[in-house]
Amino acid sequence: MKARFIASLQWIERRVVERRDSVSSLFFVELTLATLLPLLLFQWDAAYDASAQGLFRDSWMRPALWAQAALVLWLMAVGVLAWRQRQNEQVMPCLVQAAVLPSILGVGLLCLAYGIKDTPMGVVLLAEVVLARALFSLRQLRWAFILTLVAVLLAEWGQAKGWLAYAPMLSHPVYLGHELHPWWAIWVRVVFFWAAGLFSGCLFLLAFLLNRQRAMLETLVSTDMLTGLANRREFMTRLARESHRQARSERPLSVVMFDVDNFKRINDTWGHPVGDNVLAQIGGILRAHTRDQVDTAARYGGEEFVLLLPETDLLGAQHVAEKVSARLREYPFAAAGQAFKVTQSVGIAQVVDGDTDWALKVADQNLYQAKRDGRDRIVASKAFAVPPPL
Ligand code: GH3
Ligand code: MG
Ligand code: MG
Repeated sequence: MKARFIASLQWIERRVVERRDSVSSLFFVELTLATLLPLLLFQWDAAYDASAQGLFRDSWMRPALWAQAALVLWLMAVGVLAWRQRQNEQVMPCLVQAAVLPSILGVGLLCLAYGIKDTPMGVVLLAEVVLARALFSLRQLRWAFILTLVAVLLAEWGQAKGWLAYAPMLSHPVYLGHELHPWWAIWVRVVFFWAAGLFSGCLFLLAFLLNRQRAMLETLVSTDMLTGLANRREFMTRLARESHRQARSERPLSVVMFDVDNFKRINDTWGHPVGDNVLAQIGGILRAHTRDQVDTAARYGGEEFVLLLPETDLLGAQHVAEKVSARLREYPFAAAGQAFKVTQSVGIAQVVDGDTDWALKVADQNLYQAKRDGRDRIVASKAFAVPPPL
């Protein structure tokens, strides 16, 4: 049940993120119809209920009813069009406007007719605006918003001048202290709870989508896409954090740098995609040999990797590096039906006094010492502070 609920949220998320015009129009029209249809049915009922008829002005009752019925039919037709084009990237150019303009303006006018301030119709309009903004760009909504705003301002102005009654569709203001007509009492509740539900539903959904998108973006900016390891930026952030911790706690902290040996040759011999695959496999090996949530394995640059190992001294770091190097040495790489081997050189430094910058430099120097010594080996040392210049 919960899994199904999450799956439907993710389905909606994909639709909202895709912002495909046809699907957005379909969603929007369906939800607007789900609001307008009950309103229409209510009014239809009032038109044939002798006592409820008295709530509405005679001259407004029928035209408002027919206008709403026309709007509902129009939106149904737009819904069918949007459904037919739901797979298309390119849709009829006017589809979005055909969905958005009559919906928002129509709900806006209905709001004015019922009274925008002391009926739940104001909440219906708000829900419509929030939903529209979630599904469409501001550019697409420009005209619907401008026209609705103009209509509301004109109505306010007309009322201030005495040319237009407030809630002109109603025969008298509803809240005059007398008992509520039962029809009206039910109408108010149904419209309010529906609109409030729709409005809060839209807000919750938007908050859910924003949080998920933020989490996805955070992962994207901190992850190396090829290997799935942390990227250099994330590594530097964690290094700075661990540096403070190490300086305070004086617990051991080590940095391990790996550089694949003669990687250019792999690219030149087997091609770039095979090189990429080797890097991705090395990413997997590093992940498998480090502690989740404690260590950081990162891609530092092209074919260079780095480990940040908290609570690990030089011996411990050497042990990890040896295991990784041994695994890599025996790893069965193959391309074009031929097996090949990959090795790497490693430089390790244990951080002293929280000076991680210096530890990085020492690890780098050790790495190049390993290269000079003939590759496929490990050089490790503690990163004691540089002696001050004389
Ligand atoms: P050494 O043993 O001295 O480290 O030699 P090397 O060939 O590994 O080092 P060099 O710096 O000469 O070459 C590194 C190569 O790594 C060059 C570059 O094209 C390649 N490289 C960097 N990033 C990527 C990548 O993302 N994918 C692939 N396939 N190759 C990459
Ligand atoms: Mg290199
Ligand atoms: Mg290399």
